[in-house]
Amino acid sequence: TTNAAPVIVVENISKTFQNGVKALDGVSLSVSRSEVVVVIGPSGSGKSTLLRCLNGLEDVDEGRVVIDSIPLDDTRRHRDAIRQEVGMVFQSFNLFPHLTVLGNVNLAQTLVRGKSRSEATAASMALLTRVGLADRADSYPSQLSGGQQQRVAIARALAMQPTVMLFDEATSALDPEMIGEVLEVMRGLAADGMTMVVVTHEMGFAREAGDRIVFMEHGRIVEEGPTRRFFDSPREERTRLFLGQIL
Ligand code: ADP
Ligand code: MG
Repeated sequence: TTNAAPVIVVENISKTFQNGVKALDGVSLSVSRSEVVVVIGPSGSGKSTLLRCLNGLEDVDEGRVVIDSIPLDDTRRHRDAIRQEVGMVFQSFNLFPHLTVLGNVNLAQTLVRGKSRSEATAASMALLTRVGLADRADSYPSQLSGGQQQRVAIARALAMQPTVMLFDEATSALDPEMIGEVLEVMRGLAADGMTMVVVTHEMGFAREAGDRIVFMEHGRIVEEGPTRRFFDSPREERTRLFLGQIL
């Protein structure tokens, strides 16, 4: 099989914003198929910028990003391909308020994937079942809780049949009682073998679902390692300090 070939290859990427902030400073990372990598680090350490560079929302200044053998370069064809390979879920759900739940999940499939409405609906209903919301297909986003809206956002991202899913603090905007239901969906995806890069403060999730933890600070990877080893015996003093603050 091709399991050994990494799905995500990030080689020495750097990114400086126009205001002079160097958000990424020589980051390299490979992610294997079905691997779940959890990225942690203080606010402003570059976690979101890293994820945004993985799906072409940001351009890198230096280095290289390759997703499923497709280089994220300037060619339109590659960019469009990568947008379809990489699903992303943000802190804000950004559902279309004037579309139903089903409409939201259908949209990208009909627009981007060129599916017929009935094909899209069948696929969407299967995904809504997977996130536990089949019975809310005809509701509008405003009628749902934050946790339900986020699960719709996950279903919508999955509708593109991505190779990789990126989660940027997907539970950070949710009320405490909603967090568990979203993490449950994410755990299910991990168990199904989805390749995932997850930025989260949920260390319980990181321990259970993460294969590897990456700790970032000041736009660099300070330390990474297999989950158990990382938490049990962090090697870097900076990692120990950070874990001491959050655990
Ligand atoms: P994190 O997600 O770890 O909190 P970010 O990747 O959002 O960190 O930000 C890293 C650094 O880059 C921060 O100093 C932030 O203020 C800065 N930054 C992020 N996005 C922009 C932007 N669009 N323009 C200017 N600076 C930015
Ligand atoms: Mg962020």
